[in-house]
Amino acid sequence: MEKNDIILIHGTNYKVMAKKVMEAAKVAEDIGDKKKKIALKPNLVTAKAPSSGATTHSELLAGVIEYLQEHGFENITIMEGSWVGDRTGEAFRAAGYDMVCSRYHVPFVDLQRDTWKEYDAAGMKIKLCDQAASVDYMINMPVLKGHCQTTVTCALKNNKGVIPNQEKRHFHTMGLHKPIAHLNTIARNDFILVDNICGDLDFEEGGNPVVMNRVLGFKDPVLCDAFVCDSMGYSIQDVPYIPLAEKLGVGSTDTAHANMIYLNQPDQAGVKFRMTHRVQKLAAYTEPKDACSACYGSLIYALDRLNDAGYLRRGLPSVAIGQGYQDQPEGCAEIGVGRCTKCCKKSLTGCPPKAADIVEFLKENWD
Ligand code: SF4
Repeated sequence: MEKNDIILIHGTNYKVMAKKVMEAAKVAEDIGDKKKKIALKPNLVTAKAPSSGATTHSELLAGVIEYLQEHGFENITIMEGSWVGDRTGEAFRAAGYDMVCSRYHVPFVDLQRDTWKEYDAAGMKIKLCDQAASVDYMINMPVLKGHCQTTVTCALKNNKGVIPNQEKRHFHTMGLHKPIAHLNTIARNDFILVDNICGDLDFEEGGNPVVMNRVLGFKDPVLCDAFVCDSMGYSIQDVPYIPLAEKLGVGSTDTAHANMIYLNQPDQAGVKFRMTHRVQKLAAYTEPKDACSACYGSLIYALDRLNDAGYLRRGLPSVAIGQGYQDQPEGCAEIGVGRCTKCCKKSLTGCPPKAADIVEFLKENWD
């Protein structure tokens, strides 16, 4: 896999999807020596089930471990340190990782209990947990979601889990962005498998999941987080640690020249999921007919951006979305997003379109 590749897969069999992304990325070849110490670093920020939009789905861990074990790797560990205020052990059980560990005989390391050393991270002193520093190959497994302080969170910020609690507190006193960028000059990001199944709209702790039913693969954590901005309708300038990490040489924000590798088409299943009140309020501006999860999720993120900017108001025509518009006559609705809605008077192409493009399109054409 090249650094500018982005692998995408849609569906609901998350374990199989994770294995397919690992195969497509040729992770076994990339690791090489079977004796290497491999770690999986999920997002276990708090003691909540993954369906809340906060934590990495256990099925993805199962898929990654099965892939590694089938390729002859045995030195595999899951490691994480929850945020200050939550015990990692409780989060571990709430997310169902206890069952994954016992089924595959893989140990879990609570980094909140680990020792640490201080390193020079491109001119900033940062403490890193010893177990994380001893790994030969780190598979970063963040959740793509919003964050109340840093706007988004994914690969770069997920590495906050590999520092001790006292350093986490210190990061907050420094405003998060600068230390997160510097941390990624010393924290490993050998492969990134992103849980884009149902990350939260805007809060790290979950509560308003937006179902996308997608798993992504990256080699470059900066490209990953720049893509997350596109997917949620933000600019990278809204998340200062992303361009700063690029400046420090961690990776590239150039999503325009990324090589998109689609392992399948968006999920054909209609959107049927429990919406929280906040998501329902945004969904009231839509008219879905058999919309794919990734398409509908992109529209929800875009509507949230438009809400932030004060665009949403009564009287706007509903935004058409979904495969149910494919066989409709010309002029079937005022406005639609996704290539399935080309019958609409105004329509945005893309399958699925990115939230950033939906935001621009609706700003110009929605009245
Ligand atoms: S454009 Fe149509 S097929 Fe493509 S993701 Fe959207 S609803 Fe699905």
